[in-house]
Amino acid sequence: MTLSVNQDRLWQAHLDMAAIGATAEGGSNRPGLSTADAEARALLLSWCEPLGLKMERDGIGNLFLRRGSRVHRPAIAFGSHLDTVPTGGRFDGAFGVLAGLEVLRTLDDAGVLTAAPLELVVWTNEEGSRFSPAMMGSRVHAGDLLLDRALTTADDAGETVAEALGETFQIGFLTPGPRDWAAWIEPHIEQGSILEQYGLEHSGAAIGIVTGTVQARYFRLNIKGEASHAGATAMDRRRDSLAAAAEMILATEQIGLSGEPGGRSSAAWIGNIPNARGAVASHARLHCDVRHEDPARAAAMEAAARVAWTAIAARRGVQLEIDAYASFGPVQFDTGLGALLREVAAARQLPVRDMVASAGHDSVLIAGLCPSAMLFVPSRGGITHNPAEYTAPEHLAQGAQVLLDAVIRLAN
Ligand SMILES: [Zn+2]
Repeated sequence: MTLSVNQDRLWQAHLDMAAIGATAEGGSNRPGLSTADAEARALLLSWCEPLGLKMERDGIGNLFLRRGSRVHRPAIAFGSHLDTVPTGGRFDGAFGVLAGLEVLRTLDDAGVLTAAPLELVVWTNEEGSRFSPAMMGSRVHAGDLLLDRALTTADDAGETVAEALGETFQIGFLTPGPRDWAAWIEPHIEQGSILEQYGLEHSGAAIGIVTGTVQARYFRLNIKGEASHAGATAMDRRRDSLAAAAEMILATEQIGLSGEPGGRSSAAWIGNIPNARGAVASHARLHCDVRHEDPARAAAMEAAARVAWTAIAARRGVQLEIDAYASFGPVQFDTGLGALLREVAAARQLPVRDMVASAGHDSVLIAGLCPSAMLFVPSRGGITHNPAEYTAPEHLAQGAQVLLDAVIRLAN
């Protein structure tokens, strides 16, 4: 059976989805469980209506849209997320969901019923920019995070996940947990520039077959100094938590630089108290992470970071608590599914390249539940979490086509 996805329809779906939470700079701002996030889901549901799918939602708001089948068999599942970071682009997450939608639309147009059911999935709060940790919906689904713990998580303004789910009507009746899936595939933009470069060298775009992920380790740093007068307090009497945090941020960057090749580190979030002019800061909070493909190197990076942070705190006379609050990977995706993706891409004359994902994805959690795979499409300039994030319409269509071909093979 040879079916082709509709490139124009897929592109238009990206444009229409990006209009929700659109920013002046041309990006998307749809934090998990925001009104815009709920509107994005409602738009998807309106598109799914003519497809006759069965919609289910679980207690953390994960959305499952199931297409019927000829026989009773475990489903072939695919999808991604619709939430973005506040400075998000139009493709991160949205591509995986809309490629899945395009697969269902193409099968519907052709009147083809697969032997196994298909399930399009939208995970809740993948980005974690408002409610931490990231990949919240898939973590709860996989039993990595207790539902109660997720529901009581508060944002910086004190609003909880449970409240935000209620306000946006995203709570479902289903108890979160593994479903009857024979396979899971997540299409995603690369968020790096390896495929773009590879495409230039191999005359055309390329499909990335993601063989696995790096190991990532996340930390909350709680830095307590002493509040004092910015004018009256002598320099040698200060215990300035913000100055200590500044040094820790630079030390964190150094850990990634010394972890190359392949090492990454960031201090991406800061809280500063009292954040008042005229007052020496008394309390700072940082969220940092270190990543490496080799878990031993990731562990060494963590150890080096702890030594550096602790030394800075001791020298500056501030208290430091380090909370290693989350981690993932390294994950190995299913080799059989990887081989299938490689085969269907090759049959379409698409150059293929194996690669390792450095960012967290919902698939990291699902890989522990059923055979899982990810496929990447090129990101122009590797720019992501940025309004300039861009993948060309034909590259999106090629990724969706590989998904469709693989799904047809798996579901028949
Ligand atoms: Zn994503």
